[in-house]
Amino acid sequence: MKRGLGIQRRRTPGWRLPDGAVIVDRTSSWGNPFTTKDILAEGVAATEGEARAIAVRRYADWLDGNGPDDHPLTPKRSVSRAWILAHLEELAGKVLACTCPVDELPCHRDELARRAAERAVYAERAQLVALVSACFWAARAVDPGEPMCPDVIYLETPQGQLSWHLAAVDVERFFRHVELVDEGHERAQWDGHSTTEKYRRISELTQQLAAKQREADENQAGATMILPRLNPTDWEHINEALTWLKVSVRDDPDGWPEVTPASIEITWEKTVVRLPPTSRLLAQPGSPHLNDDTSEDTP
Ligand SMILES: [Zn+2]
Repeated sequence: MKRGLGIQRRRTPGWRLPDGAVIVDRTSSWGNPFTTKDILAEGVAATEGEARAIAVRRYADWLDGNGPDDHPLTPKRSVSRAWILAHLEELAGKVLACTCPVDELPCHRDELARRAAERAVYAERAQLVALVSACFWAARAVDPGEPMCPDVIYLETPQGQLSWHLAAVDVERFFRHVELVDEGHERAQWDGHSTTEKYRRISELTQQLAAKQREADENQAGATMILPRLNPTDWEHINEALTWLKVSVRDDPDGWPEVTPASIEITWEKTVVRLPPTSRLLAQPGSPHLNDDTSEDTP
């Protein structure tokens, strides 16, 4: 079997690492702490080849979360699973160099290459979910039932709830704008949707958003904004604020409330209605009070 992007690191004079290649052998932080030598000494493998396969399986198992995070590599150095998982993306698409020959037998560089490619795809996905979560009501919570991937994001859309499990490394980088709520919070309750149902909702949402945008473009109604679905209590407060401003919000039968223009910006928790700015008003949950913080812009 030809193995993807691996090369053998040689110690012979004149050998040099190709441009863009990364050393992942035991001199690096990517090294496999499980050695064929130890495995042969344990007597669990009959051949060098069997020992190599076991060493790679143990490495994969360790990366999956089994065993302690830090593992001794040499008497002086250890490798960290947390570090490897946090940096995996850097290996995506790279040529990985280990001292093992590139042959029929597995090497931990194959495991790293496969996981790095997967990590890169998850990171891309996370950035798109982060973007969408800035457009809808979103909350994240911790699911104790999934110890390896406990962070979940819940989005409320007119088509219903959308949710994803997120890798901790992506939460830190991309989801700081999403409020972290208690696992018992009403906005962090999975509504039971399957993955198929989630992508059906997304497809419908995409069609609706595109149609709304086309409609707005045709009517040149640049100031019409689409709001995510709000619960009745929120509507009460928002309407109270809007009545004061003499603008109106209408709750569309298809679940798309619209605001007709005036020169305001209203922030209601995660919902922002942005219209041409001459004044800025802020509605607080519970006791809606309006706060003009850009008085110099007010006519
Ligand atoms: Zn190797």
